[in-house]
Amino acid sequence: MRLLHRDLACQQAVELVTDYLEGALSRRDRRRFEAHLRGCPNCPAYLEQIRTTIQLAGAIEPDDLTPEARADLIGLYRRWRSE
Ligand SMILES: [Zn+2]
Repeated sequence: MRLLHRDLACQQAVELVTDYLEGALSRRDRRRFEAHLRGCPNCPAYLEQIRTTIQLAGAIEPDDLTPEARADLIGLYRRWRSE
């Protein structure tokens, strides 16, 4: 039972990640999100991954990347922003 609930909560938490990083969640949602992170073995790593990638997308010098890699990264970033 707990496992099923956790999986459902993870799915909801993942949907909230970008809003959370942008500070766009209501206080109530943010509290629920953070409570889930504390009890979840998966989501904190996922959150860090997204946070790092978003930072990289904003910090990488365009010359460091091949055009393909740059397009991939920008596409990935835009998808997160718009989801
Ligand atoms: Zn989780």
